[in-house]
Amino acid sequence: MGRMSAPALPSVLVVGAGPVGLLLACELARRDVAVRVIDKLPRPTTESRAIIVHARSLEMLERVGVVDEVMATGLKVTGAQFHADGAMRAEIPLNTVDSPYPFSVTLPQTDTERILAERLAGLGVAVERGTELIGLEEDEQVVSARLRRQDGREETVASSWIAGADGSHSAVRSAVGMRLEGSFKGERFLLGDVEAEYDLDRATMHTFFSADAAPLVVFPMRGDRTRLIAQLTDQTEADAAEPTLEQMQAITDRRAGGVRLLEAHWLTVFEIHHAQVPRYRHGRAFLAGDAAHVHSPAGGQGMNTGMQDAFNLGWKLALAVEGRAGAGLLDSYHEERHPVAARVIKQTTRMTNIATLRHKGQRTLRNHLLHLASGLAPIRAELAHQIEETDINYRSSPIVAGAGHSRGPKPGDAAPDVAGLSMHTALAEGTEHSLLQIGGEPRDSEPGVPASVRRVFVSEGTSSEPGYDLTVFDPEHRIQRRYGVPDVGALFAIRPDGYIGLRANQGQTGATAEYFDKVVSR
Ligand SMILES: Cc1cc2nc3c(=O)[nH]c(=O)nc-3n(C[C@H](O)[C@H](O)[C@H](O)COP(=O)(O)OP(=O)(O)OC[C@H]3O[C@@H](n4cnc5c(N)ncnc54)[C@H](O)[C@@H]3O)c2cc1C
Repeated sequence: MGRMSAPALPSVLVVGAGPVGLLLACELARRDVAVRVIDKLPRPTTESRAIIVHARSLEMLERVGVVDEVMATGLKVTGAQFHADGAMRAEIPLNTVDSPYPFSVTLPQTDTERILAERLAGLGVAVERGTELIGLEEDEQVVSARLRRQDGREETVASSWIAGADGSHSAVRSAVGMRLEGSFKGERFLLGDVEAEYDLDRATMHTFFSADAAPLVVFPMRGDRTRLIAQLTDQTEADAAEPTLEQMQAITDRRAGGVRLLEAHWLTVFEIHHAQVPRYRHGRAFLAGDAAHVHSPAGGQGMNTGMQDAFNLGWKLALAVEGRAGAGLLDSYHEERHPVAARVIKQTTRMTNIATLRHKGQRTLRNHLLHLASGLAPIRAELAHQIEETDINYRSSPIVAGAGHSRGPKPGDAAPDVAGLSMHTALAEGTEHSLLQIGGEPRDSEPGVPASVRRVFVSEGTSSEPGYDLTVFDPEHRIQRRYGVPDVGALFAIRPDGYIGLRANQGQTGATAEYFDKVVSR
């Protein structure tokens, strides 16, 4: 087998060009990190798989620079309804969530991947397709990855870091000796992308609990398309190797009724386990997305959780490449993201248990409780938060710091969006931290703050403050109120991923220097 001439040595090798690998590569390329992305498939997949993008992911995609295209290509979904025994039992409006995008968007995964790949190409990085990782070794300095091209030629690539975004059968995971741990009972789903006629609201996702003791979920999509996902319990259905439209129609009739399937674009049966790796980092190797965690598609959290892993890792890895990462920064990727997927696994397992109750009495009780609970505004809001993933925070992270306050966001929360100070405009430009000072005496500099940090001053006046990169005018003190700041002069360090790394009140000297020492070395 011949050897190939190697392209430029990458700082990071990303294995897998699914949504997670592509997003990570965009985040690295946006920061001028030399990155190579490989995928063993010669062409992008045509399977649409995950189709829902939640609010927290839309916020992220704004920072990546693709949210407009995602919104223009997908369909906005503004509510979730739960039906049982022929009646709607609960309705959850999604617009109660605290996000500039208080909704979900349904979009075939193929489009999500295309949009990300185009963004990546715009940043000067092309995916190297038909290139499979077949082995890797790492030492303290370098990772050596063995790659095989479709024609059999092999290449060894040296990089500083490697990211395994290579899906549930991850080769990176096996190569570093890690395994998924969890429940391997296996849940089977019949999935269909169909054209269908029905009277259900097309701006809402619908979950049907049925006497079949297995749920059916109906997601409207742009145009005439609809995604149906039916959990299979009956062995005959589960074993269907070639699912048919008739089979999907029969299940839909039993569980929902009133939905007439006209044409199938894609039908498949797939099996999923609930499992996670115990560590997301192994020396110079990181795992993200399905390589690190797998779970049921209930709630549509799989791809979203994976892309947010990548978003969390991207800025940290970029700082490490530049030699500017504080001591605990890279480890914080595992510490912040492992609990998120662990919670998704717990929630989806619970949802599955609730949706698959076999006993008639239990099902009646569930339907009743669902109806009662959804009648209470705080419970509706909580459920909307969970669905949209806007309740994700890193409050327990070892790298976030500072005093919490009874009002306003706590360290580790997403920075709130306030008109005039959209974290997605004023604070999101660039790829570095922003240090937000809410009122008080303008200072020439803040001790211990790296020069790369963007300094933003929130002013009640009308003239820009010299010495700051940006002044935001807030004569009505809306930002101060939204951030729950009793005394002017409070500082918030907003991380490149939009989460609050530090909250320091007026007079808390030394807190900023301590925070930046931990996260971004100078
Ligand atoms: C049939 C099906 C339906 C699904 N439906 C839903 C849903 O409705 N909702 C939901 O949230 N999730 C769903 N999922 C899960 C969702 O698709 C995944 O969570 C998501 O794709 C994870 O993205 P990823 O980038 O981590 O992995 P993947 O999308 O699996 O991408 C991994 C990439 O790595 C490449 N690769 C693998 N091994 C190597 C190697 N050795 N060398 C180089 N490249 C390699 C693969 O070719 C692939 O392109 C579904 C999955 C399947 C299979």
